[in-house]
Amino acid sequence: MEARYDMLVNGKMMGGSRTVDVVDPATEEVFAVCACASREEIEDAVTAAAAAFPAWSATSIDERRAVLIKMAEAIEANIESIARTLTREQGKPTADAQGEVGGAAYFLRYYAGLEIPVELIEDSETRRIELHRRPLGVVAAIVPWNFPVLTAVNKVGAALITGNTVVVKPAATTPLATLQIAALWRDIVPAGTVNIVTDKNDLGDVLTSHPMVRKVSFTGSTSTGMKVMSSGSGTLKRMTLELGGNDSGIVLDDCDPDTVSQQLFDSAFMNNGQVCIALKRLYVHDSKYDAICAKLAEIAKAAIVGPGSQQGTQLGPVQNRVQFDKLKALIEETRAEGTIIAGGDSPDGQGYFINPTIVRDISDNARLVTDEQFGPVLPVMRFSDVDDVVARANDSSFGLGNSVWSSDSEKAGAVAARLDSGTVWINKHGDIGPDTPFAGAKMSGVGIEMGMHGLLEFTQAKVMNFAKMANA
Ligand code: NAD
Repeated sequence: MEARYDMLVNGKMMGGSRTVDVVDPATEEVFAVCACASREEIEDAVTAAAAAFPAWSATSIDERRAVLIKMAEAIEANIESIARTLTREQGKPTADAQGEVGGAAYFLRYYAGLEIPVELIEDSETRRIELHRRPLGVVAAIVPWNFPVLTAVNKVGAALITGNTVVVKPAATTPLATLQIAALWRDIVPAGTVNIVTDKNDLGDVLTSHPMVRKVSFTGSTSTGMKVMSSGSGTLKRMTLELGGNDSGIVLDDCDPDTVSQQLFDSAFMNNGQVCIALKRLYVHDSKYDAICAKLAEIAKAAIVGPGSQQGTQLGPVQNRVQFDKLKALIEETRAEGTIIAGGDSPDGQGYFINPTIVRDISDNARLVTDEQFGPVLPVMRFSDVDDVVARANDSSFGLGNSVWSSDSEKAGAVAARLDSGTVWINKHGDIGPDTPFAGAKMSGVGIEMGMHGLLEFTQAKVMNFAKMANA
């Protein structure tokens, strides 16, 4: 019999008035039935969060810290079982799933350790001005399917420690591990403080347009981000939008192919390429182009592709049918535009598997280069002039991350400084953590998540301006 998963609303696990079938991407079979909310049930979750807000926002930060620590402990005590669910629904290898779930607990502990600052703006003879931070109210946390647990828990941690209440909506294809965590949290958080509801990818707008929702913390594609922004405009919601990316990597002429190729491969193919900050287009200096292409192809051909639950698997399936079909079409289109030197096909049998694919000698105008592929396919282009490659890397509507690779990190840093993105890495790619602000430039996002800068976006600035009386 398929497992059943319920939603968390107002402190109770509840079945919704609909259900959604959850597919194992490694087998294409439905393995679980998940409760799914109606429009009214999502509204009930918002109402519950709004009702819980006065009491939660009145707690001391130490009380909130204690709750966050308990939430982290509950996850830590169940890492293996949550990770099993995550692998089953998302496809990622067991070790990666355990890393994501453990990482979620680590993020909660980070938030539990933060102070919310009171900034002294002026303390003079005539006045004292302080900048305080107040919670906003109900936060809607909308989550994609690539890192469902980490993304949801990151948003919950930041929302709760600052005194907000939250309604989380996972992606329709990956709700289960999050709901498993919801069941663990039910008896830890006060009723209504955290609510987790699901949909069929059809009711996100109920949250983003709801008058009681004061902030939307959204992670997903740029096209959906644009809809979210317009839907929240009627109520002037605060928004953090973490959107798509098309990160470039630039390999300078002094790199040793034997040293950098494995790292370049891992940067592009982590989580099977389904990472907003995966390396998605690689520019290699002419003098190293053939050697690095050959090395990347060798690594790709040796990579073990299989079910995430199978020991030794390095790359699991693509997460869902829609993305799988999109990638297969993109690869077919690419055959006429470049040379596939590894992959380009799928292993025999069921599952949304694609062998890691390396494409060389492809034009900058090919869709694989201009669009976000979000899967295990990497285009490799050549360059001979640094000014030219900087212009090509910047010629994108996206601006999430970029990286520069060189045996001289100062030289790489000077190139990196010219790249237009929220993050640039030098001799690595995709390194993020809870204490490091994460921002998207251009169409890759609005606002910052993580770190103190991210935390403050979950607050309302409130100035306290005291007159100092001459005789006081
Ligand atoms: P998506 O935009 O299709 O969906 C994301 C979430 O938004 C899902 O929960 C979905 O149900 C919900 N949604 C759909 N329509 C909505 C609407 N009209 N209003 C409100 N919510 C709505 O994204 P996806 O396909 O799940 O994820 C892949 C994308 O996410 C990629 O573009 C990737 O780069 C991006 N991403 C960005 C980051 C980042 O931090 N910048 C991190 C991970 C993923």
